[in-house]
Amino acid sequence: MDNPFSAGPSSLDWSCNVKKSYKICCLPGDCIGPEIMAEGKKVLAAVGQRFGVEFVCEDALIGGAAIDACGTALPDETLDAARASDAVLLAAVGGPKWDTTDPTAPRPEQGLLKIRKELGLYTNLRPVQIFSALSGASTLKPEVIDGVDMMIVRELTGGLYFGRRERFYDEEGSGADGKPGQRAYDTLEYREYEIERIARQAFEAARKRRGKVASVDKANVLETSRMWREIVHRIHDEDYADVELEDVLVDNAAMQLINRPADFDVVVTENMFGDILSDEAAQITGSLGMLASASLGDGVALYEPSHGSAPDIAGKGVANPLAQILSVEMMLCYSFDMGEAADAIRAAVGAVLDDGLRTRDIADAGTPEENVLGTAAMGDAVVARL
Ligand code: NAD
Repeated sequence: MDNPFSAGPSSLDWSCNVKKSYKICCLPGDCIGPEIMAEGKKVLAAVGQRFGVEFVCEDALIGGAAIDACGTALPDETLDAARASDAVLLAAVGGPKWDTTDPTAPRPEQGLLKIRKELGLYTNLRPVQIFSALSGASTLKPEVIDGVDMMIVRELTGGLYFGRRERFYDEEGSGADGKPGQRAYDTLEYREYEIERIARQAFEAARKRRGKVASVDKANVLETSRMWREIVHRIHDEDYADVELEDVLVDNAAMQLINRPADFDVVVTENMFGDILSDEAAQITGSLGMLASASLGDGVALYEPSHGSAPDIAGKGVANPLAQILSVEMMLCYSFDMGEAADAIRAAVGAVLDDGLRTRDIADAGTPEENVLGTAAMGDAVVARL
């Protein structure tokens, strides 16, 4: 199977310019994090052996594990290790142990937000693909999801989530019947350079795929969206005229993702629209344990599964490690230009599934008991097919 992030094995001659040793900062995090990270490393070692590349993995603390050890979700040593690495591989953070309503207490997610900010990761890539062996897991009809292979490119550092906000008591009358009441606002702001750089990422990704970009906005209502559309078109016309570009209003996009998901190639959008649409698109696949993601900026990139730390199954050895393994695939593709090695990982995962092997979360009533594997056995099965 071709790597969806490249135009195929022949398009990337990775062997010509590959560095022979890479330093990976590994952040296992909490709950199932260390269990799935072990499988990601296993696959990395196997790929290194097959392709003659050394991956030096160095663990560092993040999330609840870091709070326990250092009182903060992202210790300076972790940030230093991340900055000094060639790529960061994260598993997942969080868990009931660190849930708190005390606003002054550290929380595991602060580690995630801070590392993304500190590394300047402004692009989030979420591939949405369906392994043919798992097509029955989707709630959509097989004929609708047949051939789904899209990449959601979400702007990660601007928009509503980072704009000015306030909540206050309005004496002038925000309550019922003109009485005093609460009032709040969030601001949606974008700067030209933020839109330019995310548009370029989307067009570059499209060139490595099927050459189509759908730019999602709300230009019929929002000024930021009108500016978004204007800038995306300018960048397209100046530098990427070979890529097909369509504009889709966000409400229509929400419908079309369900109606005709296979038509989409690259979908680029601002922060909040991307947050919502990427979760919607993820559901098309029906299996959370299979989805990887990449966060890119201008320096070190970070790769992680789309799911959380799954406290309910932590320590049981049943977590699905495939999203973590597919995060390694994205790392090879985006950080190291190792398209052929990335293809090999994807093909190995596809082969495991075609052979009927499953972890518990993706097994169904028809899966024979002996085909339901634990976390480590699933990692071994992928390695065996590499
Ligand atoms: P979750 O993704 O951890 O779990 C949702 C459901 O999916 C659970 O039933 C879980 O068992 C299952 N699941 C998730 N990953 C799986 C895997 N690899 N294999 C098998 N089953 C899997 O989401 P949640 O329960 O809402 O959150 C749990 C914790 O994770 C919370 O503390 C939350 O804050 C944190 N979280 C972390 C991240 C992250 O690290 N990026 C993302 C989301 C949630």
